[in-house]
Amino acid sequence: MDLKALYQEILNEHNLNPNNRGETADANFVLRGVNPSCGDDITLNLKVDDNGIITGGTFAGSGCAISQASVDMMLDNVVGKSKEEALRLASLFMDMIKGKAEGDALEDLDEAASLQNISTMPARVKCAVLGWHTMEEMLRNGKTEAKGTAEHCSTEGM
Ligand SMILES: [Zn+2]
Repeated sequence: MDLKALYQEILNEHNLNPNNRGETADANFVLRGVNPSCGDDITLNLKVDDNGIITGGTFAGSGCAISQASVDMMLDNVVGKSKEEALRLASLFMDMIKGKAEGDALEDLDEAASLQNISTMPARVKCAVLGWHTMEEMLRNGKTEAKGTAEHCSTEGM
């Protein structure tokens, strides 16, 4: 199997059998991310403990295969890590999508590195970064830290 076929298989698997779709009842970060250009619309739920560790996370919503698989891969990767590490991975993912990071540098992205060829498909970039961008916004701004208050936010024009 060549690399491209392997990447396609990883994407299909996350799209068809997502590990992290559902609700996180005690989430303290909840943020919606929308990509109007494709119709992707997700809500990301994260539980971050007092030490800044992401102890749980899920997503809900709908959208194209790339957007859904990407957020699922992201959650596989960031749950169990610190907020700082999750933000570092988000920057790394953005760099990869912009074509500024490749090869061994992408190791920490784990399966999310399988989306690296999106960097050559400009129309799909917003789909791939939607989950990561939404997470970045919620962790960096902390606007949604109050329990139970979901802030609706569009990522249009990012
Ligand atoms: Zn999409």
